[in-house]
Amino acid sequence: MLAPHGDTVGVEREKWSVDPFAGLVKNGYVYGRGAIDFKGGIAVFTQAVMELGEHKVPLKRDIILLIEADEEGGQYNTSWLADSNWSKIGCEFALNEGGWTMKLPDGKVRYISISTADKSSVTLVVTAHGTSTHSSMPRPDNAIFRLANALEKISRYDTKPELTDSTKQFYLTLAKTSEPPMSTYFYNLARSKHPALVKQADDEISKNVLLHAIMRNTIASVFLQAGFRGNVIPGSAVAPLNFRTVPGTKPEELIAEIKQVINDPQVDVGPPPANAGGAMLAKYMKLMQGIEESPPSTKLYQAQEKNADSLWSAPVTPTCFKPELMLSPDGAAVFLCTVCTLTQSRTTILHECMATTRRCRWSPWKQERSGFITR
Ligand SMILES: [Zn+2]
Repeated sequence: MLAPHGDTVGVEREKWSVDPFAGLVKNGYVYGRGAIDFKGGIAVFTQAVMELGEHKVPLKRDIILLIEADEEGGQYNTSWLADSNWSKIGCEFALNEGGWTMKLPDGKVRYISISTADKSSVTLVVTAHGTSTHSSMPRPDNAIFRLANALEKISRYDTKPELTDSTKQFYLTLAKTSEPPMSTYFYNLARSKHPALVKQADDEISKNVLLHAIMRNTIASVFLQAGFRGNVIPGSAVAPLNFRTVPGTKPEELIAEIKQVINDPQVDVGPPPANAGGAMLAKYMKLMQGIEESPPSTKLYQAQEKNADSLWSAPVTPTCFKPELMLSPDGAAVFLCTVCTLTQSRTTILHECMATTRRCRWSPWKQERSGFITR
């Protein structure tokens, strides 16, 4: 199964210099939300299926092209699809977005990473309590100030690196393909037993937001909810936080860790209430605990390794990043790859919204797409 996602995240339209959904082609680039993530992949996967048909390639079994409608977080995602329609899917392998074909500024490909496991997306809610009262007579226990203090503590906190077998191999590949001193930092992160050296490596490597995220549970503040009118101090203030957790992280341990950071008995940390996604979270966590890493020993991974070597003579490494394709525990081996080459800086701007627009060069896909199709 080839399963690119067709949806994109929303936009803050006023911050875009072009229509984010027009797909404007200018100077050899496509401008728009989702140009890299993941319209490019849809184009490549669709072209691959069309070519199989055009050339009447004999197939031992079906190839499914699934342009899924819900990349992450929503109700009708691939885990829903697999749960409700697995008898129609029943695929042995799936290819999807994730991993990178990372090139250097001179255009030479440095390494290819293929995600063989997913981090989980977990939302926890921080709720600060105080006295609900009139704003003309404020008390010291203002819930909004209390929440602000809690968030400030979280903003200064960072989780420790937790490497899986895949991410260990990923950073060792970076060590082999980097110049000193970064090669030493990558090596120390993966191998050193000295906490001071690991900390130094973490500090240096984490200047890159993507590499910072791959090695740890990340914490993102995404909403604030408090207050309802100008002359009332609310009795509570709420901030949902979105965590992306390394496989094996237990939700209860995460809650305990964040509570310890906040260290305020008037601030609760817990899953969202059932009517606001709590039930979905429970289901999601159950599913995640059942999914194992897809083994690099499979034929598909090895074919990608071989093709990458013949196309770019660059090393291939497994890695683990954000959740993409949640199939059932008895489902397919899932490998996540990028079907066009990207520079490090371009890889880190996915989902960002800045004064400039996201853009993706069109032409290389045509030349390089065959690297990810097994023949
Ligand atoms: Zn995506």
